[in-house]
Amino acid sequence: MARYTGPVCRLCRRAGGKLFLKGNRCFTPKCGVDKRPKPPGQQLSRRRPKFSDRALQLREKQKARQSYGILERQFRNIFASAERQSGITGENLLILLERRLDNIVFRLGFADSRAQARQLVRHGHILLNGHKTDIPSCLVKEGDTISWRPASAKLEYYKDLIQTIEAKTVLDWLSLDKENMVGHLLSMPTPDDIDATFDGKTIVEFYSR
Ligand code: SF4
Repeated sequence: MARYTGPVCRLCRRAGGKLFLKGNRCFTPKCGVDKRPKPPGQQLSRRRPKFSDRALQLREKQKARQSYGILERQFRNIFASAERQSGITGENLLILLERRLDNIVFRLGFADSRAQARQLVRHGHILLNGHKTDIPSCLVKEGDTISWRPASAKLEYYKDLIQTIEAKTVLDWLSLDKENMVGHLLSMPTPDDIDATFDGKTIVEFYSR
């Protein structure tokens, strides 16, 4: 299945909640969910549609997939890896998603959204342990360093970012040297560290059928 290129706010409205796909706009009154809370295509309907258990499970899976901007097959592969690991599959899934390089770039505040972070990685602006890595799905390990390619410091985007990065905070399992724009993954995130937009248990139920 190809990557969705339509209006992303529509995905949030269909999911019935914010997926935070548009960076800072998601925190303003311009947010599509705040302005038009009803799902797309139901503006004229007075009654809320009833969902079957299966539809709710599918919706939860789509929320996770769309939040992290992952294609269907890739998401299924990540779920399969989560299942192979010991522990709770739903939690393993969340941690695997959080460890993706594009997500870490977003969490460090180098990008306003995961889509923007993915583009920064794809365009080769990000170094992982000092090496150029243009694979957004690459998994970051404990102790890894995430930094900028020196040549990217000439970008207008980078110059604007160093003005605004001071006001940003990072999660406890990450650290950021704002002067040198270098981030570290201090420890593996736990589900308590992450404000997930989806319920991992429901996704496990979806794939168990
Ligand atoms: Fe759009 Fe962000 Fe609001 Fe979702 S959370 S509807 S992407 S502005």
